[in-house]
Amino acid sequence: MIRIQNILVSPGEGGVYNERMLEGYRVWDPYRSKLAALYILGEGVELPKSMRVLYLGAANGTTVSHVADYVETVYAIEFAPRPMQDLLEVARRRKNVVPIMADASRPEEYAPFVEAVDLIYQDVAQPDQVNIAERNLPFLRPGGWLILMLKTRSVDVRRDPKEVLADTLTELGRRLEVVEVRWLDPYHVDHAAIVCRDRS
Ligand code: SAM
Repeated sequence: MIRIQNILVSPGEGGVYNERMLEGYRVWDPYRSKLAALYILGEGVELPKSMRVLYLGAANGTTVSHVADYVETVYAIEFAPRPMQDLLEVARRRKNVVPIMADASRPEEYAPFVEAVDLIYQDVAQPDQVNIAERNLPFLRPGGWLILMLKTRSVDVRRDPKEVLADTLTELGRRLEVVEVRWLDPYHVDHAAIVCRDRS
């Protein structure tokens, strides 16, 4: 990942969300993007130019736009109409973003439009986050990556976040190798980033 004066940046055209520019690069704000927080607090997954990404929970395209600055193609899934409008604007200016209005828990609806990908990135803040991730695993190429941003309060607001994380890791560990787990505070409270890799 590119850093300037130790600040995480991406190499694209600015003006997506009033982000600061630094020496011609876009500052990637960890308070606005959980993925940026992961790169600052931990390792994450490299984003080479050749990479294809399936992004679940694209919202208005803030993080999508930074990922698209690095990789070949981002298939961006979002089901809410309002953020979709902003996402379409991001896609208009970045030809490697494929916006798809669909429910990430129904991947059969967008399967005809999505190729095999190297990384599934999921940030949907739903109770059934693991189930949604598992349904999308058929898109992952052998040896590919999953980054799941777990919002523990969305799973169960009454339970201890650490317990929710432990259960989530057990479930994901049945299908994938868990390689990194990182709480994202102070940038995002009660959120954990889970990085997994396909075992095959
Ligand atoms: N990843 C975004 C970013 O960093 O810019 C923020 C994502 S926001 C926390 C969660 C988004 O997931 C919302 O826009 C919501 O509409 C979307 N979402 C939730 N459940 C979804 C589903 N089943 N299918 C598609 N989108 C979903």
